[in-house]
Amino acid sequence: MPEGDTIHYAANRIRPVLAGQIPDAIETPHPRFGADRWDERLAGRAVEAVEAHGKHLFLRFEGDLTIHSHLRMSGSWGVFGPGRRWHRSPRRAWMIISRSDIKVVEFDGPVLELITETRRRFDRRLAMLGPDVIATDFDEQRFLRRLREDDPTRPIGDALLDQRTVAGIGNLWKVEACFGTQIDPWRRSAEVSDDEALALVRWARPRMQESARTGMQDKYRVVYGRSGRPCPRCATIVQKKGQWDDNRPTYWCPGCQR
Ligand SMILES: [Zn+2]
Repeated sequence: MPEGDTIHYAANRIRPVLAGQIPDAIETPHPRFGADRWDERLAGRAVEAVEAHGKHLFLRFEGDLTIHSHLRMSGSWGVFGPGRRWHRSPRRAWMIISRSDIKVVEFDGPVLELITETRRRFDRRLAMLGPDVIATDFDEQRFLRRLREDDPTRPIGDALLDQRTVAGIGNLWKVEACFGTQIDPWRRSAEVSDDEALALVRWARPRMQESARTGMQDKYRVVYGRSGRPCPRCATIVQKKGQWDDNRPTYWCPGCQR
């Protein structure tokens, strides 16, 4: 699942290839980019930084231009050395950046845009992003403030998905953080104390940071996708139900999550 750790992991692999380098070629084969001429606009410019914030990835180029990407549910990044097999069809590549014999590829969009730094600063979605759950200097007070500004009747599980409250947690980490801390994802956030809310992010942070280094997100799946099976902690059957406006599937154990 493309959550914050997936994006940081991609940034960690892209950075050594592109940071401080001028790409040899930038191709945007998807028809949507037909007349945009990214190759011409970015020609000769070095990549100044490869950054991730929550689920967003930014390739900052010299001269105030930034490629902004968000994978939503469908997209994927790949970094391929010579002879390495791509994990998706080349027809699904929206952008291919080449540097010596390595290719950095974004597959299946769906948010891929070339913006100026000024636009990045004034983009509402980006300006509203909450503190990045993976950042070393995560601002807990800001997280709590944003959580308390949100609808107090919203279930805590769903509130954790709001990128304005905390950036980077997706459905998998929401489910596992609630299970790991034994907090019922259906409790209204008003009924979750500050200490409990902090316990959720403090549980998620080191695990997501490790996953961002290793790319081994799957090893943290304990109850996600396991409905109908016994809870590994108390053997009660794990439940699944769609939550709140977006109806995102929530897995939880009614026996040991309170
Ligand atoms: Zn249980």
